Amino acid sequence: MHLSFEGAAREVTGSCHLLTVGAHTVALDCGLFQGRREESRAKNERLPIAPTALSAVVLSHAHIDHAGRLPFLVARGYRGPIYATPATRDLCALMLADSARIQESDAAYLERKGRPHAPPLYTTADVTQTIAQMIGVPYGRWFDVCPGIRARYHDAGHILGSASVVLECAEGDARRTLVFSGDIGRSGLDIIRDPDPPRVAADVVLCESTYGNRDHASVSGAKAQLGETVRRTAERGGKVLIPAFAVGRTQELVYDLHGLLDRKQIPAVPVFIDSPLATNATAIFELHPDCWDRGEALVRTDADHLLRAPFVTYTRDVADSKALNSRRGPAVIIAASGMCESGRILHHLLHGASDTKNTILIVGFQAEHTLGRRIVEQRPQVRIFGEEVSLLADVEVLNGYSAHGDRGELRRWLDAVRADGSPAPRVHLVHGEPEAQDAFAAALAADGYAVDAPPRGDTRTL
Ligand SMILES: [Zn+2]
Repeated sequence: MHLSFEGAAREVTGSCHLLTVGAHTVALDCGLFQGRREESRAKNERLPIAPTALSAVVLSHAHIDHAGRLPFLVARGYRGPIYATPATRDLCALMLADSARIQESDAAYLERKGRPHAPPLYTTADVTQTIAQMIGVPYGRWFDVCPGIRARYHDAGHILGSASVVLECAEGDARRTLVFSGDIGRSGLDIIRDPDPPRVAADVVLCESTYGNRDHASVSGAKAQLGETVRRTAERGGKVLIPAFAVGRTQELVYDLHGLLDRKQIPAVPVFIDSPLATNATAIFELHPDCWDRGEALVRTDADHLLRAPFVTYTRDVADSKALNSRRGPAVIIAASGMCESGRILHHLLHGASDTKNTILIVGFQAEHTLGRRIVEQRPQVRIFGEEVSLLADVEVLNGYSAHGDRGELRRWLDAVRADGSPAPRVHLVHGEPEAQDAFAAALAADGYAVDAPPRGDTRTL
């Protein structure tokens, strides 16, 4: 039995790990690499295994850096099962189609401008075939992945449908229990439930480490800071531009803006959710009230209050989206993608980044070499669609809205996986940049964990 690390290894995108038990190999996630354009293109095109040699895929959640390469795997001939929670399957139907469309429209835009570009990695037809191969499995139920491996999902509290996975592996007389964390969320959010760590006395844990070296502001502190940013930007007549994953942060932000307005802590500025995907994702939230945080008593009748409001406009058409660029006066515009790598946020940044009245509000993790990261670093000039744009807008970072737990939350999750009295599991850190991983590894090693952070292509025996 062995594991090989083929993505999100010493970095945060391209999540993919191969688990081999006997004659069968299973992929845990099959995500898209993002970052430097040519480099990620090359990484995305190189599959770590022949698609026909793969027995199954077990998916942790629908974010593109975990699921976004599935249609490419299918386009190259994979026809086996792809397991996911029912909400993840529904979200994938939207998000993968959106990913295909974004790739198609970015290529068309660059084509019109006469700039060099690569063809899309996959088409909408590949996405349809991918969804046909997905099998929904609810939390808490064992399912057979392939001979020698059975699995069970636990809520990871990261986005709707997100999961950590327990994998029981058997080969001959040998038995091993592996836990794959997926992305671990924060505790105390209003919509998404708190993470539910599998208390299974695991032998080996694959643990994410995005914020392994950081503490976040409290959830309530983040709300206050959101209000302050909107108030200040509105006073000078500017727009607040928020790059956000269409699923998760967008819904939490709308919910909190509604609360801030109710309490008159922000002026009545119009809010535009400039993303057909976010609009559709909101409908999927309503389809899965079973995934909502019951502690907050967010029952079905709250859905309108939660996600729709008179001051919120969901724009679908490209023409409406373009009209926002020339719109005057204060506004909040939330658009994907979360790391400013593609999507409508690019057009808003192209038009708005050089206006000193505006604020670019960063609410999620920005990977190395992405436009979002360069904005966080406040580079004087940034490149958008091949044009040099002066970055004169205010830039604010709100880590309290992170979909990822901070080092304390990661540590509490990991300690819970190690059931009472059982020896510490071997920990392989994934989904983190070297600085965060090394700091987290040092802290874990000091407390008796055997821990490493394997680079891409490395293999470990279970
Ligand atoms: Zn994620």
